[in-house]
Amino acid sequence: MAINHQNIRQQETQVNHPVPPTPVRRPFPAELLTALKSAFGERVSTSDAVRAHHGRDESPFDPQLPDAVVFARNTEDVQTVVALCGQYDVPIIPYGNGSSLEGHLLAVQGGVSIDLSEMNRVLSINAEDLTVTVEPGISRKQLNEALRDTGLFFPIDPGADASIGGMSATRASGTNAVRYGTMRENVLGLTVVLADGRVIHTGTRARKSSAGYDLTRLFVGSEGTLGVITEITLRLYPQPEAVSAAVCAFPSMGDAVRAVIETIQIGVPIARVEFVDSLAIRSINRHSNLTLREAPTLFFEFHGTEAGVKEQAELVQEIAAQNSGEDFEWATRPEDRSRLWNARHSAYFAMLQLKPGSRAVSTDVCVPISRLAECVVETEADLKGSPLPCPIVGHVGDGNFHVCILIDPNKPEEMEEAERLNHRIVQRALRMDGTCTGEHGVGLHKMNFLLEEHGPVAVDVMRSIKHSLDPRNLMNPGKIFTWAA
Ligand SMILES: Cc1cc2nc3c(=O)[nH]c(=O)nc-3n(C[C@H](O)[C@H](O)[C@H](O)COP(=O)(O)OP(=O)(O)OC[C@H]3O[C@@H](n4cnc5c(N)ncnc54)[C@H](O)[C@@H]3O)c2cc1C
Repeated sequence: MAINHQNIRQQETQVNHPVPPTPVRRPFPAELLTALKSAFGERVSTSDAVRAHHGRDESPFDPQLPDAVVFARNTEDVQTVVALCGQYDVPIIPYGNGSSLEGHLLAVQGGVSIDLSEMNRVLSINAEDLTVTVEPGISRKQLNEALRDTGLFFPIDPGADASIGGMSATRASGTNAVRYGTMRENVLGLTVVLADGRVIHTGTRARKSSAGYDLTRLFVGSEGTLGVITEITLRLYPQPEAVSAAVCAFPSMGDAVRAVIETIQIGVPIARVEFVDSLAIRSINRHSNLTLREAPTLFFEFHGTEAGVKEQAELVQEIAAQNSGEDFEWATRPEDRSRLWNARHSAYFAMLQLKPGSRAVSTDVCVPISRLAECVVETEADLKGSPLPCPIVGHVGDGNFHVCILIDPNKPEEMEEAERLNHRIVQRALRMDGTCTGEHGVGLHKMNFLLEEHGPVAVDVMRSIKHSLDPRNLMNPGKIFTWAA
């Protein structure tokens, strides 16, 4: 599916904003390739396969290939690429693990993709302070493997095995955020290579600071548009003494969501609570060979002491029963828990199988928890009128849910229908004081929605920050908002 830049420009015109030109690929001079090859040798690739891998993400949009890919090994390598690209006015697109969902990695103006996967070391673990400093290419699973013997863990868990750099750059969260927060709360400091090649260190290992503007928060969620993150200091947590999990089916989505709202409102420190609708359950059963009842379902996980976990679980079971929950089923053995959560984590790929050959347009709205039931129920009614399969999953403890609208990428009318549904879902969320994206970020696809959510003045303030840090628009250009002076 091609991105409709014309549409984005029309929106900006409607809000009386300057209209930028359609992104065009910038020239990629042969001298730059020669210079990159001389600096990095075999670690530069211009092969079609490598470029194709780096010019796409998990979104349904057509790939747009970078001109070259460089595999960086340290901050100095990144500085060298940035300096060379700066010399020739060529864009730079940081690449983590390619799991983003909104066209973040598409090289809309060409340029050099900096692959950070070889920068995957743990630099220091400070167990007493509960912090760790890592390179950006380490994945969340690799990090937790490295932490295994320390008694600590890093909880943020988007379904994909994303890189910590990519997760920082998209301000990711996932199933554990209801208890442990998002990347916003868990990144303490960063090392960043700026567009002009300077290196800055934001934050310290201290738990808090009032020292000036919060540059860490500025770069967390900046989607590669302000600089390349080369080191990250994170908070860690003690591995819980006891963990238990459960599933519970409900007669309707509204009942399930109301059970979650009550659980949150009375302050149960639940570690995970995920909603999966009946269509998504059908896909999970087929994909993971399970026999869950095909009904709106909640997946729970509880962390704490043995006694604490038991108390939380009993309370939640009671709340579920009061909201017509049935078949509350426990999984206390580690293998049963992992089976259940692996099934939940594979939901995205399971759902794609509902319509073979399809791609998913994944919505990502997040609303205040008090409006969640209303938002989900209205959305469910709206989706009933659509011919497209639209399974729903959600991190409902945060008020965040995803409708996976399954489209045939070769049928433009299906993409149009998906966009119509997505737009109505976003407008509903904004009306309820929510956001167009709880965790996936803006990329290319939500640029219009960003304007609707924040208005042109706030987006202009963001643009001014971009202009001052990256005046030649070299860092992942064409993402989040259009470049207009
Ligand atoms: C099945 C599935 C489930 C998912 N579930 C969730 C979920 O529950 N929660 C959630 O938040 N997301 C989810 N996602 C989306 C995705 O996993 C996240 O957006 C993730 O944070 C992307 O990380 P990545 O390493 O793959 O980054 P990439 O896709 O490689 O990059 C994402 C963006 O970050 C930039 N970037 C990457 N590394 C750096 C760096 N070092 N410095 C500066 N910029 C950088 C890139 O330029 C790009 O703009 C899911 C995706 C899939 C496919």
